[in-house]
Amino acid sequence: MSKNNEEQGFKNVRELINDIGVQMNIPEMCRLRLMECERELTIHFPVKMDDGRVEVFTGFRVVHNDSRGPSKGGIRYHPDVNLDEVRTLAALMTLKTAVANIPYGGAKGAVICNPKIMSQSELERLTRRYASDIAIMIGPEKDIPAPDVGTNPRVMAWIMDTYSMGKGYSVPSVVTGKPLEIGGSTGRFEATGRGCMVSALLAAKHLHIDPQEATVVVQGCGNVGAVTADLLAKEGCRITAISDSKGGVYNPKGLNLESVFNHKKETGSVIGARNTEEVTNAELLELKCDILVVAALENAIVRTNAPAVKAKIIIEGANGPTTPEADKILLDKGVFLVPDILANAGGVIVSYLEWVQGLQSFYWDETEVNKYLGDLMTNAFNQVLCIREDEKVDMRKAAYMVALRRLAVAMTTRGIFP
Ligand code: NAD
Repeated sequence: MSKNNEEQGFKNVRELINDIGVQMNIPEMCRLRLMECERELTIHFPVKMDDGRVEVFTGFRVVHNDSRGPSKGGIRYHPDVNLDEVRTLAALMTLKTAVANIPYGGAKGAVICNPKIMSQSELERLTRRYASDIAIMIGPEKDIPAPDVGTNPRVMAWIMDTYSMGKGYSVPSVVTGKPLEIGGSTGRFEATGRGCMVSALLAAKHLHIDPQEATVVVQGCGNVGAVTADLLAKEGCRITAISDSKGGVYNPKGLNLESVFNHKKETGSVIGARNTEEVTNAELLELKCDILVVAALENAIVRTNAPAVKAKIIIEGANGPTTPEADKILLDKGVFLVPDILANAGGVIVSYLEWVQGLQSFYWDETEVNKYLGDLMTNAFNQVLCIREDEKVDMRKAAYMVALRRLAVAMTTRGIFP
């Protein structure tokens, strides 16, 4: 990632918060607060590697805002992650929890590392040391981490155990996205993809597109992309292409997803799956389709490729996949874009359900969890759509308006201490 990009993400979110906030007459004190992160921790910590060397890693935990409740946000392990990216993702979490109307603020954490080349024991030592260093910030009533790119339920279990050892008793609700056996929620693994599926179907309904006739292209074949593809296929959509970091596969008649996923499991990539032709990641985004799900990383759709996007609907499964310049181009082309803070809220919604279940030590079955998820996603989507129609704005702006209104009410109701 270039230095320019490194400094860009948070600036973009700040500008949106300020511009939309001014138009909505949001009090200045609220705008100013939302344009900064409340708390930021940067740590440099040693980890013993398997070959006996000691490596020093850099990690972050950033709380953007906790006016509406404890802060919530995932932990990313990635070689290119930086503080600006963590601030951006933390701010998006504040907006996302407000759009979903769940009683949380926003946070994010990260460690600069490449989990793909580390052993399980190195990852465990790194995670436990990171958890121990951020223990001053996290806690079930203050800041609750979850998985993100490069982390998974196993990593959450290590964080929960490390935090609990420090306290002297088990604290399951300090993290969400845990394995089921130690207090995870049914449906959490699929939650973000399920929320994307719900958003895609609601967007299709709004545009009078029959899911049975719809073609879908998916960028990213991880937790979000693979689950969204699978669930949309189960709803009758034809998934014509999917990709991972190495490239994509395409079949205009529809992919056999089971065979593509098995191929990825066996070889590490979707490329070469049976009955598919290879496409580059750049080509994939420009394929003709009704629904394009972008579920990889930031800045997938930019000024240069936005004019070539042919999808009618874009579902932002990833956080920040469209740059502001690309956003304008897509809007002019009439693309119906469901923004990240709405489209991928399913993950944090089921994290909230997991947290609630943990706090009351009473667990629900998957049908119940999926029903809550479906209801909360549908309410959020309809509220944003309503504002879009009333205010004659695009879906991203409408989602920011819903979020900023709720945040402003919370901040002004609480007032400023002292
Ligand atoms: P993941 O690590 O499980 O999957 C990421 C996928 O993207 C992998 O298949 C990877 O190969 C692929 N990828 C990476 N670079 C790519 C590129 N240039 N082109 C195509 N594919 C590429 O991560 P995830 O959990 O699925 O998260 C994906 C995005 O969704 C991230 O932006 C994350 O912040 C966001 N998100 C995740 C959750 C969640 O619950 N997992 C919730 C909300 C938002």
